[in-house]
Amino acid sequence: MSKKWRPATQLVHGGTLRSQYGEVSEAIFLTQGFVYDNSAAAEARFKGEDDGFIYARYGSPTNDMFEKRMCMLEGAEDARATASGMAAITAAIMCQLKTGDHIVAARALFGSCRWVVETLAPRYGIDCTLVDGRDLANWEEAIRPNTKVFFLESPTNPTLEVVDIAAVARLADQAGATLVVDNVFATPLFQKPLELGAHVVVYSATKHIDGQGRCLGGVVLSNKEWIDENLHDYFRHSGPAMSPFNAWTLLKGIETLPLRVKQQTENAARIADLLADSGKVARVIYPGRADHPQASIIAKQMTGGSTLVAFEMKGGKDAAFALQDALDVVTISNNLGDAKSLITHPATTTHKNLSDEARAELGITDGTVRLSCGIEDGDDLLEDFARALDVLKA
Ligand SMILES: *Cc1c(COP(=O)(O)O)cnc(C)c1O
Repeated sequence: MSKKWRPATQLVHGGTLRSQYGEVSEAIFLTQGFVYDNSAAAEARFKGEDDGFIYARYGSPTNDMFEKRMCMLEGAEDARATASGMAAITAAIMCQLKTGDHIVAARALFGSCRWVVETLAPRYGIDCTLVDGRDLANWEEAIRPNTKVFFLESPTNPTLEVVDIAAVARLADQAGATLVVDNVFATPLFQKPLELGAHVVVYSATKHIDGQGRCLGGVVLSNKEWIDENLHDYFRHSGPAMSPFNAWTLLKGIETLPLRVKQQTENAARIADLLADSGKVARVIYPGRADHPQASIIAKQMTGGSTLVAFEMKGGKDAAFALQDALDVVTISNNLGDAKSLITHPATTTHKNLSDEARAELGITDGTVRLSCGIEDGDDLLEDFARALDVLKA
């Protein structure tokens, strides 16, 4: 296996382990445990003298293939596959903390991530300060002697703002903190947080990596030392392991990741332009457009736009609902990264539990709509939007 392969090749061949049958497609090893040739072999394995498998909660062949393929793509030394994105994120944060520690996190986080740092961690005596991730002075001011973790996502959900990852990584290094980046929205193709100086990257594989709406999954990636010292024991003993069936589904999904993300991004860029020119929209936020408020940071740290578009309808909630209801190809769902185009109204769904004030801080208004573009023919999507926008009163 060559580390020099380009991503599309790595994602088809990377990490493949073939059994004695020489199967083309990766095998699913649905087994809880493993047998040993003799007592001495069992003893050696438990001593760590050979790297065979022991128990599926610790690791297993199909999961291993998925982890190795993700490591190649991300440029990480090691990884652990988890049952969901939230299992990955909770493990990545909590595995390294103890009572008395402090987290600094960007406040624009996926809702459940925000709950982990804002509500769960303090129950264990771990304080958390939420900052405006775009404001470097905010990060710096929040640092305390006991700050151990920095956490952010970029671009953010749902308003697609970006955080300068390299600059925040430098502050984390100065503070002696570990920077954990949730890279779901960027995808592993368009942004490499480890190269930008982050220490740990987490994904919900449920999104673009599966990309076909089938199963949940997550992954934590870092260098070998961080995984050995922080995640290894936590992962083994607290048990967030991914099902081998889901690891297999995700291995198949990841083969087509570059093809899907390319088509989704092309579709998103075209729809962003159509919306911006429609006269019905107050604001379009698309990381691939020159009018994105942080276009210079995007040029520095991302190699592609986004499969998502955020926009604000001029007529507020009524117009947002009318648009969503008038669309035909695009369906209403809170998921993202899927082969099917999905649209959601954050204020009444994914972000409904936040206070009005917290929503306003994140730039979510009653007119905000988030679109996740699928792999449909872009012409059909454009026609669908053009027709639905026409239905709305000007
Ligand atoms: C979906 C998502 C998660 C959570 O992942 P699950 O697989 O649903 O547990 C975390 N962060 C971001 C940015 C997401 O989009």
